[in-house]
Amino acid sequence: MGIPGDRFPGYGRQGMGRRQGGVRWWVLLVAATYFGWYWLNHQQDAAFTGRTRLIDTSVEDEARLGLQAWQQTLAEADLVRDGPVPAQVRDIARRLVEVGPGVEQHLARALGVPATTRWDAFQWEVGVIDSPQVNAFCLPGGKIAVYTGIIPVARNEHALAAIMGHEIAHALLRHGAERMAQQKLVQIGQLAASVSIGEMEPRQQQMVLAALGAGARYGLVLPFSRDHESEADRVGLLLAAAACYDPREAIGLWQRMGEASGGGAPLEFMSTHPSSGTRIQRLEAWMPEALVLRESSGCPPLPR
Ligand SMILES: [Zn+2]
Repeated sequence: MGIPGDRFPGYGRQGMGRRQGGVRWWVLLVAATYFGWYWLNHQQDAAFTGRTRLIDTSVEDEARLGLQAWQQTLAEADLVRDGPVPAQVRDIARRLVEVGPGVEQHLARALGVPATTRWDAFQWEVGVIDSPQVNAFCLPGGKIAVYTGIIPVARNEHALAAIMGHEIAHALLRHGAERMAQQKLVQIGQLAASVSIGEMEPRQQQMVLAALGAGARYGLVLPFSRDHESEADRVGLLLAAAACYDPREAIGLWQRMGEASGGGAPLEFMSTHPSSGTRIQRLEAWMPEALVLRESSGCPPLPR
């Protein structure tokens, strides 16, 4: 057994001399130039946050992908069609979606960013899935799923509105499209890296690629997903508040979610979500804003 570098030491050393450590630098240069060009041509200011981000999918294409995933979900899931839970979930969704443009206007004023959401591209639909999973999601284009397993963790309609507001916010902020663009660039980057080190010793190659993979995951993908979570928390909280739910219920909710995920295996819903301590601190910081927005939306006063 041996690796090519062992059997042909002369070849390996010569290659390394010419390639400066076995790296084809021009491949990396081309990839970096492409990245720069791609970033400049596909960046846009996000609605609701004003954050500059990379998106290379049209809102229509994104909605089409969302619809496909939705049809697949409906085909495989056990749906709860009648009874109080679907009625309540539909009612919450309707109220949250209704106040969406107002919340966008509020943030546009507060942050000095343009309101650019294409509301016409969202076809809202709600499904309650009979499953013990503590889960909920909203697909691009506005297809909302709530699993019955999350109902006991939510405990009341205000907390359920906080969960659904969070999920709806992910769709409004087009986090799915942003993640797709990011995955594409990570894949191209990994391909460029593996081509550029093609003449390195295989063992060394594996080490470099593993390090790059970990770097992309911890340096790019996870921080981004934590940013997305934080943005969805803020927008979700404001949606719930503007729809006259009690935003303070979000605090207890995320505490319960933290406990629900603390015991056994990590919940799917929580796996990319920030630790509940950080999340609760942020929610508390946004609470005054949410309460003011709620009051200015003409909602009845909250119990003390
Ligand atoms: Zn989330």
